[in-house]
Amino acid sequence: MKHVSIAIDGPAGAGKSTLARALARQLGYLYVDTGAIYRTVALRALRAGADPEDPAQVVPLLEGLDLAMDYGPDGEQRMFLEGEDVSQAIREHRISGLASKVSAIPQVRDFLLDFQRRQAREHDVVMDGRDIGTVVLPQADVKIFLTAAPEARARRRLLELRQRGQEADLDTVLRDIVQRDYDDEHRPVAPLRQAEGAVRLDTTQLNLEQSLQSLSSLVKERLQQ
Ligand code: C5P
Repeated sequence: MKHVSIAIDGPAGAGKSTLARALARQLGYLYVDTGAIYRTVALRALRAGADPEDPAQVVPLLEGLDLAMDYGPDGEQRMFLEGEDVSQAIREHRISGLASKVSAIPQVRDFLLDFQRRQAREHDVVMDGRDIGTVVLPQADVKIFLTAAPEARARRRLLELRQRGQEADLDTVLRDIVQRDYDDEHRPVAPLRQAEGAVRLDTTQLNLEQSLQSLSSLVKERLQQ
């Protein structure tokens, strides 16, 4: 049986994960946060003391990498590294930049490709990331490019970090977001860009509820076509 897949890509802090999770819940699909998978590889590199930008140090870690994903009783995606639940650890601010660096290594992306595609083969999914519509699931039933102005994204990210009890200031978060956008958009493999056939949704002027409403009606409309 063919499963339905919805690909949501966009820059950091555009609200992808919150909106994709809520959309998946509405539709009864599985939500797959692919950033969490890259973050787990980044954590492995950090723990091994590897330079995340050096393929010669990161690639050998892939062999025998014990990485797993499941869904907890609350339906939330969990990531495991060598059997340890690292779902919280990968949310630390420093992991964001490291994930962006390891994700620029072609062998890392190749290694994770099948892991991600398997989810879409086995379930109806809402999958979010940077290259879902362009590389991972180019045949997705609906593709969305979710974006917002950098300042709006930085403010949202700051709020999210503070809610998790992490200290941060707006300038630093904004600088990191702009840097990460640049890195994600300019890497030679699977750079962040709007996929062919993707619908662009800019949430700068929208609150969460309005964003979800727009996304949801857009997706439902497309699914009926
Ligand atoms: O989405 P999140 O901020 O958790 O992703 C962390 C980093 O992982 C991103 O900045 C990006 O460099 C990388 N990533 C990627 N491809 C994806 C998902 C995330 O390169 N599909």
